[in-house]
Amino acid sequence: MGGRGASSQMQKNSLAVSSEKWRPNVEASENRIRGKKTETAILVGMDGKILIDKSDGHKSQVGFNGQELALMDGAILTHNHPRNSTFSDEDLKIMVHGLKEIRAVAVHGTFVMKKTRENADISMGKDYALAQKEHLNQTNKIWAEAQMKRLGLLEMDKLADQLNHSIEVFRRKWLAKNAKNYGFIYTYERRTA
Ligand SMILES: [Zn+2]
Repeated sequence: MGGRGASSQMQKNSLAVSSEKWRPNVEASENRIRGKKTETAILVGMDGKILIDKSDGHKSQVGFNGQELALMDGAILTHNHPRNSTFSDEDLKIMVHGLKEIRAVAVHGTFVMKKTRENADISMGKDYALAQKEHLNQTNKIWAEAQMKRLGLLEMDKLADQLNHSIEVFRRKWLAKNAKNYGFIYTYERRTA
């Protein structure tokens, strides 16, 4: 993509801002999959056309074949997160296929990762995964120690909740702090309907 001259680029940019033709279909799709127990992914073109609508019946993953990945250039990918979490590193790694925006639907709203420039740095997904690794290692250590202590089931449940929450907080903070450095904007659209 990209216009040949500055004026055509400006025209493109203003068009993108003034008419988001894709938005009605994206929002209708999100209202349909919000709160579902399995993950469904929907790819919508800039013109609003639905290009992919699929679920593998898994709780936290939808796989794409090469043909499907080829449709992603310049499109919007939305999907639901049954656990209401923000983006996984797999989600952000899909952006290397040229997505304009990826969205993750939670119960009360939608996480949005949007390109702010055409040459956005798509290595963000890789860096995000690396940053999480250290945090995950610490979390696993705490968990292993708790298992050695043979805590009761209730205490283990409580600890699992705490650790999962700490991972989620870490992820949201990392994305909020770093997305702009890669040419993306990370936001949360509160549910309106
Ligand atoms: Zn996801």
